Amino acid sequence: MLASEFLKTFPMLHDVLIESWQEGMGAGNPYTTTPPGRSYGLPHSAATRVIPCANRSCNGRGFDIFQDISEMVREKLHIKEFVQVCCGDEGSPKEAQRRRDCVNTLHYRLTLKYEPEQPSS
Ligand SMILES: [Zn+2]
Repeated sequence: MLASEFLKTFPMLHDVLIESWQEGMGAGNPYTTTPPGRSYGLPHSAATRVIPCANRSCNGRGFDIFQDISEMVREKLHIKEFVQVCCGDEGSPKEAQRRRDCVNTLHYRLTLKYEPEQPSS
């Protein structure tokens, strides 16, 4: 399996798995009124370093997990859970008075798969 492009920054990593659920606007199943399940979805490889915000009127860039991964690598952690609040806001610049902060929250757990240690000879 080919690692994601951003993982090239971390040659010691083989893969990064992410499990997540999002709280806020646009989260959950749009076809039912069931609130989003407060449990992580299935783990999948992190394809990009930014997880998009589910709020359709949000103009933020989403949730950046790059910093978390680099901290985990530095501390040599394998699994860690995070909570990140979106730093985008809703509304266009023309409607500044109607603007409000997007408060969507991403709950996620990162699993780092390290490359096997190279024997030092
Ligand atoms: Zn947002």
